[in-house]
Amino acid sequence: MPVAEVRPYLVTRNLPHFWCPGCGNGVVLSAVARAFARLGLDRTQTVVVTGIGCFGRADDYLNVNAVHGTHGRALAIATGIKAVNPSLRVVALMGDGDCATIGGNHFLHACRRNLTITAVVSNNLNYGMTGGQYSGTTPAGSTTSTSPLGHAEEGFDLCRVAAAAGAMYVARATVYHVHLLDRYLETALTHQGFSMVEVMSSCPVYFGRYNRLGGPVEMMEHWRKVAVPLEKYWELPAEDREGKVAIGVFQDRPGIPFEERYRKVQEAARGARAGEVTER
Ligand code: SF4
Repeated sequence: MPVAEVRPYLVTRNLPHFWCPGCGNGVVLSAVARAFARLGLDRTQTVVVTGIGCFGRADDYLNVNAVHGTHGRALAIATGIKAVNPSLRVVALMGDGDCATIGGNHFLHACRRNLTITAVVSNNLNYGMTGGQYSGTTPAGSTTSTSPLGHAEEGFDLCRVAAAAGAMYVARATVYHVHLLDRYLETALTHQGFSMVEVMSSCPVYFGRYNRLGGPVEMMEHWRKVAVPLEKYWELPAEDREGKVAIGVFQDRPGIPFEERYRKVQEAARGARAGEVTER
C-alpha cells in the first residue's frame, strides 16, 4: 500500500518509535495503520484505547482519537466508550500482560458481552517493559526473569479462550505472516460484535534472549518455523503440537452484538416509563 495513504493515520512527528530494534510491535502497529488506511476509517470517528506495557505506547503513533488507560483496563475503557456512543469504531491495542494477565477478567467479559470492539493483542509472551517477567501467555518451560529455572505454568491459548467466551471473530497470525495479519485485521475491523486478532510478536531483548532464540532476524525465522495453519495443527499427533503455534481463523460467527440488544432494553425502558407494555 502506498505510504502516502497510510501517513494520515500516523503521528509522524513521534517517529521513529520508542520500541527496541527488532521488536515486533512496529510490525503490528504498521499493520493496524495500513488496515485503517485500507478501510478509509474516519479518524474523527475512530478511537484507539491502550493500557500499559510496550505495546501500550502504540496510541502515541496513531493519528486518531486515543485514550491511554491503566494496566489491564483497555477493554473496560473501550466498553464504556462504545456503550455511550455506539457509532464510534473502537479498537483496543494490548499486549499479553494487559489483555491476558492483569486484564484477563475484562477480556473474558468483553468476549461474552459482544460489543462491536476490535481487540488487537501483540503477544510477545512476557512483560517486556518491566524486565521480562512471565505473563499469562508464557509457555511452560520458558525462561523469564521471574522463572529463571523454567516456567511451571501453561500459558493461555488466547484465541481458544476468546472463542469459548463467545467472541464473534477470532484469528491469530504472527509478525512474520503480515499478509495474513492484514487480512485478519481488515475482517476484524468490519465485523459485528467483539473481534480479536492475536499477533505472536518478537521481544528479542527479553523473551528472545532468555530463551536463546537469537536476534530479531532469528526470531522472525522462529515464527515462520513454529507457525502451523489451524487445520493442520489439529491433525498433528499431540506430541508434535508441542512448541507449535496454530495460526488462522478460530471463530467467525454471526450474532447480535450487545449494542443492538441494549437498544431494545432502552426502548423497553422508555416504553415502561411511558406506561406502555413492550413486547420482547
Ligand atoms: S522490551 Fe521487548 S517488547 Fe518491549 S520494546 Fe523492547 S523488544 Fe519490544
